[in-house]
Amino acid sequence: MIATEQKFIDEDRIVSVLGSVGLSDSVKVRDILQKARKLGGISDPEIATLMNVEDEDLLEEMFAAARYVKHEIYGNRLVIFAPLYISNYCRNECTYCAFRVGNKALKRRALNAEELANEVRVLIREGHKRLLMVAGESYTDKDGFDYILKSIDTIYATKEGPGEIRRVNVNLAPLPVEQFRQLKERGIGTFQLFQETYHRQTYDQVHVSGMKRNYDWRVTAFDRAMQAGIDDVGTGLLFGLYDWKFEVLALMQHMHHLEAEFGVGPHTISVPRIEPAFGSDLATRPPHAVSDADFLKLVAILRLAVPYTGLIMSTRESAAVRRATFALGVSQISAGSRTNPGGYAELGEEGDSQQFQLGDHRPTDEVIRDVAALGYIPSFCTACYRLGRTGRDFMDLAKPGLIKGHCSPNAMSSFLEYLRDYASPETKAIGEALIEKELRSMTPVQTKLSNRLMDRVKAGERDACV
Ligand code: SAM
Ligand code: SF4
Repeated sequence: MIATEQKFIDEDRIVSVLGSVGLSDSVKVRDILQKARKLGGISDPEIATLMNVEDEDLLEEMFAAARYVKHEIYGNRLVIFAPLYISNYCRNECTYCAFRVGNKALKRRALNAEELANEVRVLIREGHKRLLMVAGESYTDKDGFDYILKSIDTIYATKEGPGEIRRVNVNLAPLPVEQFRQLKERGIGTFQLFQETYHRQTYDQVHVSGMKRNYDWRVTAFDRAMQAGIDDVGTGLLFGLYDWKFEVLALMQHMHHLEAEFGVGPHTISVPRIEPAFGSDLATRPPHAVSDADFLKLVAILRLAVPYTGLIMSTRESAAVRRATFALGVSQISAGSRTNPGGYAELGEEGDSQQFQLGDHRPTDEVIRDVAALGYIPSFCTACYRLGRTGRDFMDLAKPGLIKGHCSPNAMSSFLEYLRDYASPETKAIGEALIEKELRSMTPVQTKLSNRLMDRVKAGERDACV
């Protein structure tokens, strides 16, 4: 059966759960935090209780629990990726986005294979191994959907010196099962799609025309992806369109549905907040803007609620907000991003063709240096996906804590590879000191494995991983 109609987002139930919890009392909150520290997640009413915490001391206890869970599962690692916008053509009218079809002032562009390869070469020279390919919902008349497939081929085929892109994730419009199958055959990593808002009335208001108006087609996209054999999907919300508390509980319903149907939920959750976008009034004044304080709270709650699901933070956020969320739960970050097609190879023209304004403008090397100086190991590892540790297999390893045995040593060797091939002298010095420090805090088994992998990198091998 091809899923196009959904019955798993129950708005009445969300409203009733939100209405059933009053201002959180400290005994109840502490019980929930204790439960969350066991790494088994928490229930929807418990999530709602944490959402209402306002007391400063209790909030700090909640953040401490989130930091604990983050550290237990992800250690000191932060996975690094870069978005790669290939086309800003779009047939939809999403009122928050600069790419919307009605924005006639936007310069439109779909990169051809040569332009795309130029972009990829720049990203490889910056040290990237993992890209997120992004496009508007409209493909060139000549190739149709083949444009997307050919672009993935071009990215994987492009080499530069010793470097290559080892994992291409995609953020595209929802597809029918057959096209999902074609994507899988192309060797994509994660299929990423944000619901934007689960609140149907708001969804209808902000998606004025085009295919994206169809809420059910979008919210059932992961069902079709999984039917097509893609077991690695990444979800997300566009915070600011509707009440963040409603959105988080709806997201939980979506995740429970996928777990019940397919035995595995999304691999990642992205948490973008709406940023100002060229030609969008709504993006300048989001109707339900999430404050920095609430944003930190929601990141911490997600970390406690779904401990094994990666949390992704993009360069939409400022460097300061990004730093604060690393400790609370974020496990993947983008670096050195551009949101206009051609933006990496052709610097300086982004204003009238980019999707939204960036909060963090720093080049990749500077972000990596900052992350390392804060004590986090920037990981360029792509081993799980290439060794078939995805979907349920990944969760089967992650939940008993076994994945750490792979991830920590792989992060170390991939970071050393970055330092040797791409880092500035300053970043290299900070990074090498961090590696030494990290080796001292690992278990003896992990230290041994890390040293073995790093020796292979020092001997000239690339992509040394387990
Ligand atoms: N066109 C496809 C779609 O809409 O699903 C995929 C690419 S779209 C460029 C990727 C995401 O950008 C959207 O899902 C939306 O959440 C996000 N986005 C759009 N406008 C934004 C804005 N003003 N600020 C932050 N994120 C935005
Ligand atoms: Fe097009 Fe996606 Fe932007 Fe909507 S969010 S206008 S579908 S690119």
